Amino acid sequence: MFCYQCEQTAKGTGCTTIGVCEKTEDIQSLQDTLLFGLKGMAAYVHHARELGASDDEVDAFISEALFTTATNVNLDANRYVGLVLKCGEMNLRTMEMLNGAHTSHFGNPTPTEVSTGTRAGPGILITGHDLLDLHELLKQTEGTGINVYTHGEMLPAHAYPEFKKFSHLVANFGGAWQKQKEEFARFPGAILATTNCALLPKESYKDRLFTSGMAGIPGATHIEGRNFQPLIDKARSLPPLTEESGGSLTTGFHYTAILGVADKVVNLVKTGKIRHFFLVGGCDGARPGRNYYTEFVEKLPQDTLVLTLACGKYRFNNLDLGTIDGLPRLLDIGQCNDAYSAIQVALALAKAFDVGVNELPLSMVLSWYEQKAVAILLTLLHLGIKDIRIGPSPPAFISANVFKILQDTFGLKMITTPEQDVAAILG
Ligand code: SF4
Repeated sequence: MFCYQCEQTAKGTGCTTIGVCEKTEDIQSLQDTLLFGLKGMAAYVHHARELGASDDEVDAFISEALFTTATNVNLDANRYVGLVLKCGEMNLRTMEMLNGAHTSHFGNPTPTEVSTGTRAGPGILITGHDLLDLHELLKQTEGTGINVYTHGEMLPAHAYPEFKKFSHLVANFGGAWQKQKEEFARFPGAILATTNCALLPKESYKDRLFTSGMAGIPGATHIEGRNFQPLIDKARSLPPLTEESGGSLTTGFHYTAILGVADKVVNLVKTGKIRHFFLVGGCDGARPGRNYYTEFVEKLPQDTLVLTLACGKYRFNNLDLGTIDGLPRLLDIGQCNDAYSAIQVALALAKAFDVGVNELPLSMVLSWYEQKAVAILLTLLHLGIKDIRIGPSPPAFISANVFKILQDTFGLKMITTPEQDVAAILG
């Protein structure tokens, strides 16, 4: 038997990792899926706890599930399948908790147009997912003359009422994480990375890069206890940004905003003006093939509506898809954890039409990269959502047998080409 972990061909042929040889490739694959899902969920649990919210059942599950991945505790594939789906269930609870923590602190997001230009004066660019870091930074920079810009997954912050109170939160700069090296080098101010996905910096901006919370980058200055004074001092010492006009992006279609126009949406479906809903988004990445998502959205006909979230949206959120009776065709729900909002919209539509979610004219076309995307996919599978398309490549940790189980049980499929997939979905 080949050991997937130590790459020995048989037990007793020099393997010193006692017990690991008992694992099959499929057990390893299920264990890895569980571990990646737990890592993604742990990020959301951490954000919620920082905002004062926690859930004993979720915490207990994390230790229970981690325990089962210790050497030879569990070699039963069926038990792992159950744990993997339970991870999806616990991640749904976690995302609900984090949504509640965000909205109770910062209010319900509303659709908001965000500038992508720059203002004259010193600036700080903040990236990552930690809204509490942003809030503290805005409080500490208020009245200093420093402008704050969002990058990557911080874009949805502009839509929360609490953040709108800060007039020096001026714009979004740049796109998804994989463009950091080019975009951070171009941004002349100080930069704060609050979470993943942070990249090792270029020399040209290393001395003006700071980290906070869990983020750590060699050469960058780490902020302790959300005291952003060193970052503020650095921003003041750097050359100011110049005034440059830019375009705009729209974000803030939280489920409360979409459900606020639910009657209109239902009516547009009933009158045939909306034929199909798509959820297109997820984690972005640098590998070739991700232009699929841009082309896919471009090819969608005018009577379709696109919900999006996470940094995968930067593949197409600058496109003008127009409106359907005044309703924008592209609705940016928010960060990756706002998958919770997408789920609430899907459940509400199913209720309005008195059908199951799988019977809705709704298709999910997701891009995966990072562990949070794994946790969200497990949540969607836990909810029994079928025919999800993922891409651009199959997750390396999913074995052929495990992928077949997911295909047979949930109709999970890989993306093909935009033309083929649009045709297959819309007929
Ligand atoms: S959406 Fe995913 S890839 Fe993008 S920054 Fe967040 S965790 Fe990273």
